[in-house]
Amino acid sequence: MKTFFNHLHAQHQGQFEMFRGALVPCHEVPARADHVLAELQRRKLGEICAPQAFDAHALTTIHSERYLAFLENAWSEWVALDPDNANRDALPSVWPTRTFRGDVLPDNFAARMGLFSFDAGSPLTSGTWVAARAGADCALSAAQALVEGDKAAFALSRPPGHHAGADFFGGYCFLNNAALAAQHLRAAGMARVAVLDVDYHHGNGTQAIFYDRPDVFFASLHGDPRTEYPFFLGYADETGAGAGEGANLNLPLPRGTDYGHWSDALEVALAAIARFGAEALVVSLGVDTFAGDPISGFTLQSDDYLRMGERLQQAGLPTVLVFEGGYAVADVGINAVNVLQAFSR
Ligand SMILES: [Zn+2]
Repeated sequence: MKTFFNHLHAQHQGQFEMFRGALVPCHEVPARADHVLAELQRRKLGEICAPQAFDAHALTTIHSERYLAFLENAWSEWVALDPDNANRDALPSVWPTRTFRGDVLPDNFAARMGLFSFDAGSPLTSGTWVAARAGADCALSAAQALVEGDKAAFALSRPPGHHAGADFFGGYCFLNNAALAAQHLRAAGMARVAVLDVDYHHGNGTQAIFYDRPDVFFASLHGDPRTEYPFFLGYADETGAGAGEGANLNLPLPRGTDYGHWSDALEVALAAIARFGAEALVVSLGVDTFAGDPISGFTLQSDDYLRMGERLQQAGLPTVLVFEGGYAVADVGINAVNVLQAFSR
């Protein structure tokens, strides 16, 4: 199995995020991806490839042009406001919540930052755009590998993507890599594609992007949003809208869920994906379901990821795996590569 590695990922290195009322060092750090790469190399699980460079059109299949223009220029605008800003990340602090307008694009930079985001946990840095752009190329390259006949491919990238919507960032995510991969498979002629999100947190961005579409099925296993981030989406009664009715499946689970109960939910998701008739699968591979994760609440053990990978592989579909969350940094490599092992035979 080929791995498309984002060699520019470390360009995105936030200093602080707003977390439970305080600015704390970022949980989403470059070492996460480096540990996965080292473990892939240690086990010799296939070729590590540089991604192909896709043009801007590939991004506009998922993201709005005004959002992409904002992301691309945000850092230079931030530094133009004050030269000292070069030494601090940009974090949003004001948002257009209910009764405000979302159709107006203000001139003020802080206002636009709020318009295009939903939390203060996702610092925008000097290298965010470069890293996110190369990460999107990894996801698109992995999808292209399937188009060319590979059975599976892995996009090893950061920042992650599944919280990013068509026109907003948040949850450490800026470009939705899984959605870009799914859309690439659709454009290449696969009639029906499923996205299965196994990250601890609901993939609100991916759900929102495909919510009214009948051709991309979204299924997610995640911490119950009544208590877990991102709180405002991911409930079981969200089943799709319009032509997409029935093509969205949320399986929220309580804090403390172990692999036995988690894997029961996985069976429900895989059965629904089989009924849907997916021709290819995109897995949003977060490993923050691990018992040792500092910001999550499930109790999966490292060996459970071996079983998870085997079960996903047995679904029998061409599969793109996209790296998402996982913040027990020292264990992220072993856990993620345990999932990948079954796809590397
Ligand atoms: Zn997560």
